[in-house]
This record gives sequence, structure tokens and C-alpha cells, in this order.
Amino acid sequence: MGSMRRVLDCFLVFAAGTALGAACSSSPGTPAVKPLPEPDPYPALITRGPLSPRIANYDIRVRFDPVAHRIVAEQTLRWTNPATRPVSKLPFHLYMNAFKNEESVFMRESRGRHRDARASETGWGWIDVTAVQVHHNDVTISPDDVTISPGPNDPGEPGPMRAVPGSKAELLDRVVFPGPDETVLEVPLDQPVQPGQTIEVFMAFEVQLPEVFARTGYKNAFHMVGQWFPKIGVVVGEPGSERWHCEPFHLHSEFFADFGVYDVAIQVPNTHTVAATGVLTGAVDNGDGTRTLTYHAEDVHDFAWMADPHIDVIEGEAKNQYGTVRVRVYHRPAQRHFAERHLHAGIGAIEQFSALYVPYPWSLISIIDPPPRAARGAGGMEYPTFVTTAGDSFFTPPGVRLPEYITVHEVGHNWFQGMLASNEVDEAWLDEGVNEYADSIVMDALYGDGSGMVDWAGFRASSHLMRRAASGFLELIPAPIETISYEFPDYSSYAMATYLKTGLALRTLENIVGVEDFRRAMAFYAQRFAFRHPTGRDFFSSLEQALGRQLDWFVEPAFRQIGAVHYEVRDINCRRKHKKPRGVFGRGDDKVIVTPEDGPETDTWTCQVLIVNVGRVPAPVDVRIEFDDGTIHREHLSVSFDKTWHRISVERKSPVARVVIDPDQAIVLDSHLHRRDVRTDPALGPARRAAARAQFWTQTLLQVVGL
Ligand SMILES: [Zn+2]
Repeated sequence: MGSMRRVLDCFLVFAAGTALGAACSSSPGTPAVKPLPEPDPYPALITRGPLSPRIANYDIRVRFDPVAHRIVAEQTLRWTNPATRPVSKLPFHLYMNAFKNEESVFMRESRGRHRDARASETGWGWIDVTAVQVHHNDVTISPDDVTISPGPNDPGEPGPMRAVPGSKAELLDRVVFPGPDETVLEVPLDQPVQPGQTIEVFMAFEVQLPEVFARTGYKNAFHMVGQWFPKIGVVVGEPGSERWHCEPFHLHSEFFADFGVYDVAIQVPNTHTVAATGVLTGAVDNGDGTRTLTYHAEDVHDFAWMADPHIDVIEGEAKNQYGTVRVRVYHRPAQRHFAERHLHAGIGAIEQFSALYVPYPWSLISIIDPPPRAARGAGGMEYPTFVTTAGDSFFTPPGVRLPEYITVHEVGHNWFQGMLASNEVDEAWLDEGVNEYADSIVMDALYGDGSGMVDWAGFRASSHLMRRAASGFLELIPAPIETISYEFPDYSSYAMATYLKTGLALRTLENIVGVEDFRRAMAFYAQRFAFRHPTGRDFFSSLEQALGRQLDWFVEPAFRQIGAVHYEVRDINCRRKHKKPRGVFGRGDDKVIVTPEDGPETDTWTCQVLIVNVGRVPAPVDVRIEFDDGTIHREHLSVSFDKTWHRISVERKSPVARVVIDPDQAIVLDSHLHRRDVRTDPALGPARRAAARAQFWTQTLLQVVGL
């Protein structure tokens, strides 16, 4: 199987017009020693900092062994208590333990699969914290050189850390994993950290990288290192009722962390090229076949890096209000052709997102285009100033812009989560879905209105149109958009609600309130909450404030309930107007009968059109009624909660030929499969009932039930 995949990957890359390069030969060859890189000649920020509260600051030293896929590291965290009350324990994420065994929450939920990638039976990954020291109030609280390792991991039993013989155990008994899952470590403190006080926590740790299937790990010589160090949780909540947010690593959830400054020194073989969050501030040859590369990043909430002995880089520049951003694309030689496309998309994304929201403030962004065999697991992930892309394939020739879209999306995450650091665990839609909405704007701006996604062999499509094509499934999503990521029943529900439905809901809202006003409101939100942790409520209250109107009539059902808008043409009924109403009028002896001769037909038709919204989300909508004589009647149906249907009455010189609900396609949070565009059928006679097959069967059924 493995060799077949290799052949296929090579075919895909080759057929896409790229040279058959190193990535596709049977072996990429012995890695050559690379020249020692020059430090980047610019600061971490291209504007004045600090931009964020800098609560969690890390100093990390790493030794990397690419043969064993192993990391040995030490870190010092300087953490300031942002709460209004003292904190007596410090929880840390140990994300890498998600890949340790089948008992982790992640593996139990995923059953070894993530998106299309599968976990390897041999490539388990883990992290051991081998020492902890806490410095607080100028006192080192814990013993020196404390060595700890995880305890037994019986399912259902808490697994307290135990001391290695010879070390002091007092602290260790209380340093615990809360359950069989080992992705959260809690360090209790002898003295609480007071509000505003800073504490220093030293940790030594070792990481075994997994064979990549969910964002992080290795694939042959390629190493993508993300979520690899003990990362402190986030204090959340209103002043006075703050709490720690440090969930176990769940399948559908991504990450959430505080901003800070990172200084990371990575010791690697001199054969490897490294890319990382931040800027390179130092490069030292150690004289033993290794070198130490030091990176510095400011106002970021994560740090990721990549090491590979066969990777090339191309570079370009993006301009924004702050100055120049260097954009680098790291790629294997065989993917050079795609790298140029990713570079163009990356530069465009930096410029467009900067103009729409807030300027990108960092000097650099690194876009990693993983080798094809690693792309399924490692590709398509965002970290601050560092993203991985994907999409290189035979099926994506120039004009089929999936590779560009993935780059735009991942670069866009530097806004929607990188700067607007919302909680990806509890509110995944607030970065993924909001980003999706923005990506469509950026793709159309870069590649042409209506052809942002595809412009190939005569086909043209925007990413919005492609999303719209999937909207037929909106009413099948079993959970609201505002669902905690790990409470979605499956990946499809998570993805459909978080990405698709959120994107369509925001586009609908934009069309309802007006494009320009909505985009200004989005910029207001971005500027107000950049480098903070906005919640969904912050998002909507910012929009309401900027727009000067309430949105809860739409937000409540669209984001907090299942379902969508569901407009249908239920009935069209036209008849000729009579000169006088026919029938029997009066009582007793005064009865008068008006016959067809007394009340003949006029040349006017009275038409009634019944429009219903049987969806759960109300939305104002336009209806266009076309008549046989070519005239048009257009009506705006406003929203009212107690009315889920509207009957439109019109008089014309001819009957209705066609009814179109939402002719401008403004309400895109609606299935395109519904009867929103109905032509009358002359064969059905003067009543001109619109008789779609579905309605025929519905009416037949109702007649049976009515018996
Ligand atoms: Zn995303």
C-alpha cells in the first residue's frame, strides 16, 4: 500500500506540471550540509509593541533528533496572573499525549482518524515532563532537579505522577493528571499567585513526535512540530468569577492560549532547514554537526516549527499600513510550481486581510507546503506567523484554486485566532467560520469576482458559490453553530456548522444590513478585540454597536438553534376578475342572483401568491413576480416572528408566469433545493396552480388524511 501511495503521489505532482524532483525519487538522497542561515535583519514586529497583555512568556531550549523524531527541551514560563483573585494551581496542556495510546480522549474520540488521515500503529507520540520548578516571590518553592514521570494509566483511575527514586516527592504527589487522559497536567502552588503577580515555572521535558496524522509529527524526513511544549491554560470569565480553561485535547477542538513573548533556541543537525514562528535572531555552529537557531516572537500565543533536510524556500513581500511583511514559502523542489501559487496567495492574503481588518503586525510569515505524503496530516493548519498549506495535486492545475484557497484560509487565521484569539475549543465557529466568510471576500479580490475559486476550462466559480452549492444540507445539521467543539456528534456536523453554516449565516447578515456597513462593522470588531480573547457575545455586540441595530432576531435562531431559513412558494393562484362578484346576495325575498352574464369577466387577473418560511430562522426577503405580459411586481417581505407566511395579492392584465423568492440571492442561509423559483404550468388550466411533483404528492396525502 505504501509504495502505491508513493507512486500515486509522484504521479499527481508530476502530472500537475511540476518537475519530477527529489520528493519523488525513490530516495531524496543524503542530506547535504546547509549554509548557516543569516539572522533576519528586522525586529519581530513592524509596529510598536507591546500589542497584547503578554501574560504567558516562554523561554525554551530544544535539542532535536530527527532520526528518533525526538525532542529534549527545557522551558521557563513567566506567567502573570490576570485574574482579580489569587490562583493556587497552574494547569498545563500536554497535547502530545493525545497520541500516546488508545485511551487518550483524542484517540477515543477519533478512533485513530483525523480528517482523511489515519494514525500509525507504530508512530505513537508522547510528552514526558521530567522536572518542574516553581519560582515565586523570589523563592524557589519546589526541590531542585525534581524528576517526575507519569504514573500508571488505568482507564478510569486518576494517574498521579510519581517521583523517580531519589527525588523529593512532596510536590510530586500533588502534580496530577486529572484522569486517564494525560493531556492536562496540574501543578499546585504552595503559595497562591496574587492578581498581577508574576510566577516563573521551569520544566524539563521530552517529546516523542508521532507519525503525523493530526497536524503534528513526522513523515519520513519532514518534521512538523506543533503543540509540542507544556502550554499553560487560560484564565477566563468575568472579573470576580474567573476560572481556568484547560480542557483535555479533544478531537474536534483546536487551541486557546494567552499572548506573550517567545524565545526559542533549537539545536538541529546542520543538514536541516528550519522555519519557525517569529524571526531568526541568532545562528551558531556548534562544531559537532549541529547548529543552534534562536527565534524570537512577540505578541503571539503559540510557537510552531518545521525541520526538513530537503526543503527549499522562495520569498516575496507584502505591503500594508505598517510596512513590509516578508512572505516565505517552504516547499520540496518538486512542488516549486505550487509554491509560486502559494506565495502569490500568501502575499495577497496579508495585504487584503490587513486592509479589511487590522494590519498584520509581524515582520514575517512562513507558509509550509508539506511534501505530498505528509500533507494529509500536516497540511492546512495555522500558527502565529507560521502556517501549513495543502492542495497540491493533479486535480488542481492553475485556475483550480484549492491550493490558493487553503493558503488564504490559513494565513487568514493569523487574524481570526492569531490576533482575535477567541476560544477555539468552546467557540470554533468564531475563528473558522468567520475566517471562511472573510476568505471568500479575499479570494474574489485576488482572483476576480465570481471566479475566486475556479477559472478553468470555461468553468468559473467563487468560493461562496461552492459553499452555496452545499447549502442543501443546512437543515440536516443536528447541532447549532454555537456548540462546544467536542460536543458535536461527528466531524461532518462540526464542519458543516462551524465552517459552512457560519459562513452562509454571516453572508446572509451582510446582505440584510448592507455590504459596506457590515464590512465596516467587522473591521470595528477586529480593531476592538485584536490581541484579546473575544467571545461570540463580544462579536455580536460589536456588530450591533457598529451597525446601530439589534441583531438578536437573526443571531439567536441562526447561531443558537438548528435549522435554517426555508422559504418556499407554496401556491400561485390567478383568476380573471369579474365585473361584479357572482353568486347569491341578500336575504329572504330580497335575494338577488348575479349570473356570469351580470358579472362578466374583465381583462384583469387577480393573483395570489403564498410564500411560506417553514425554517427556524426568520429573514426579510424580496419576491419577484413575473407576469405573462412581461410586467414585474417586486415586494419586500419583512420579518415578523408571529408570521411564517405571506400572501401577496396583485392585479395585472395577465396571469403570473413565474415567482422567484430572493432573486438577488441575499438569503444564502437557505437551501437552494427549495421551491424558490417556480414557473406556472399553462397545461394546468386557468387556475394556473404551480404544481411541482412534491406539492402534488403532498396534496394527495392531505386529501387522504382529510377523509
Ligand atoms: Zn481553519
